[in-house]
Amino acid sequence: MPGYKVLLLDGIDPAGIELIQRTNAIEPIVHDKISRDELLGIVGNADGIIVRSSTAVDRELIQKAKKLRVIGRAGVGVDNVDLDAATENGVLVMNSPGGSTTTTAEHTVAMLFALARNIPQAYKTLKSRQWEKSKFKGIELSGKTLGVIGLGRIGSEVARKCQAMGMNVIAYDPYINPDAHLSSGLELVDLRQVFEHADFITVHVPLSENTRNLVNKNTIARMKDGVRILNCARGGIVNERDLYEALKSGKVAGAAFDVFKVEPNTESPLLDLENFIATPNLGASPWKRRERFQRTSASRFATTC
Ligand code: NAD
Repeated sequence: MPGYKVLLLDGIDPAGIELIQRTNAIEPIVHDKISRDELLGIVGNADGIIVRSSTAVDRELIQKAKKLRVIGRAGVGVDNVDLDAATENGVLVMNSPGGSTTTTAEHTVAMLFALARNIPQAYKTLKSRQWEKSKFKGIELSGKTLGVIGLGRIGSEVARKCQAMGMNVIAYDPYINPDAHLSSGLELVDLRQVFEHADFITVHVPLSENTRNLVNKNTIARMKDGVRILNCARGGIVNERDLYEALKSGKVAGAAFDVFKVEPNTESPLLDLENFIATPNLGASPWKRRERFQRTSASRFATTC
């Protein structure tokens, strides 16, 4: 008889659910969609919770979950989990870093090309039966300087791919061991140099009090005129209002987002601007990868229980 009850929320992949079932020790309770009130009503019986990114596992929820031992985040970031509240209540928090590195790095590079060559805008125009060849000239990436902020798993992979495309890559990350990058050909610089020298800036840091609004009107003012900015990391790292103004004035020539401060987001004024392109948080989406990290999360979780 299964002993532990685990809530599987936000549409966990069936392969992950099956893995949990196979333990025989855990009873999975699956709710792909559940209202906040309903969740608060049932969480008291749960020994574990596994979420993707939609459910806020906040202090209120954790405090109601009197039997809770483990929170599994099927994905990388844990910003939808209140880590302080979990720690104070003796609840272990686990994520699945690494599974989505390549797929997110590839998505970033796809956005970089799309941004440089105006592919979404040209496609949209052509679909409306207009041949706007001279309007969407675009720029070459080769020979341009890419500034990478955050040289962890994804930032490093983006840097490698862009070096291979002939870009000059500079990077800022105060927490890494510079020796590990000695043979990479990367130039490690301070943040000021990234802002001053980069033609493209891409952020790959976690969202924290240090990185929230890292790109804002003051830091944008220090960037090159015509800089292009990418955020495929977490909404809120780039201040959306300040970016809007900079895109309108032309100080920033273009921007590409995969993430927004509030998601889902179909209302952002940024979406009205032609020099802003975006995808709805697709970075980690490809099916196999998702399956892989939800399985990773489920199997680590099952072992912990
Ligand atoms: P990681 O932990 O491997 O790397 C993050 C790096 O940021 C670390 O090297 C760290 O030292 C550095 N860092 C932290 N604070 C910094 C600061 N103030 N300035 C500069 N560098 C700083 O993480 P990762 O797996 O590479 O993920 C990077 C980001 O991408 C995270 O925000 C993650 O949530 C996000 N992500 C997004 C998607 C998506 O679907 N768009 C998918 C996966 C990950």
